[in-house]
Amino acid sequence: MNIILLGPPGAGKGTQAKKLVDERNMVQLSTGDMLREARTSGTEMGKKVAAVMDAGNLVTDEIVIGLIREKLEQGAAGGFIFDGFPRTLAQADALGDLLAEMGQTLDAAIELRVDDEVLVGRIVGRAAEAAAAGQPVRADDNEDALRVRLAAYYKQTSPLIGYYHAKGQLTSVDGLASMQDVAASINKILG
Ligand code: AMP
Repeated sequence: MNIILLGPPGAGKGTQAKKLVDERNMVQLSTGDMLREARTSGTEMGKKVAAVMDAGNLVTDEIVIGLIREKLEQGAAGGFIFDGFPRTLAQADALGDLLAEMGQTLDAAIELRVDDEVLVGRIVGRAAEAAAAGQPVRADDNEDALRVRLAAYYKQTSPLIGYYHAKGQLTSVDGLASMQDVAASINKILG
C-alpha cells in the first residue's frame, strides 16, 4: 500500500507515519526530514535550501521530486507513506507518473483535518519540548515562519484535497482526535 498523509504543519503527519512504520513495516518518506538531513550533512543542495526552509517557504518542485525519485527506486516491502509530499499540484502529478513508471499505485490520500489555533499551539509546544529535552529546535518552528508555512499550505498544498477527491482517493480524518483515535481511523482506511 502506498499512501499520502496530507495536512498543514503540526497536523500530526509525522507522528502517524512513525506509527505506521512500526506497525505495518511501511517506509516513511518525509521530504522535510530529507531536506533537514541534506542541510546537516552540508551538501550543496542543503545549503541552497536552508534560507527558504527557515523562512517557511516551499523549496522547488525539482529538488523534492528528485529526492522522492531516489527513494522510490529503493522500494519498500510494506509500501510507502508520503509525509509532507506532495505539497504542490506539480508534485502530485510527478508522484503519479513516478508510481506509474514503477507499476505501482497510490492507494489513499488521507487528510488530517485540524484548526489553525491548535496547530500554532502544537508547534510552539514541540519547540518548547525539544528545547527542554536539550534537543535542537527546528529553525522554522517559530511564529513568523509558522505563519508563512500555513499560508503556503493553504495556497499551494490545500488544492491537493480537491485533486485527490476528484480521483476518488481522498479520505478525511479528524486530526484533533487523540493520537490513538487518529491511528485507529487510519488503520480502518488501510484495512
Ligand atoms: P516539514 O518537515 O514537512 O514541515 O517540512 C519543512 C520544510 O521543508 C517546509 O517548510 C519546506 O520549506 C520544505 N519542504 C518539505 N517538504 C517539501 C515539499 N514537498 N515541497 C517543498 N518544500 C518542502
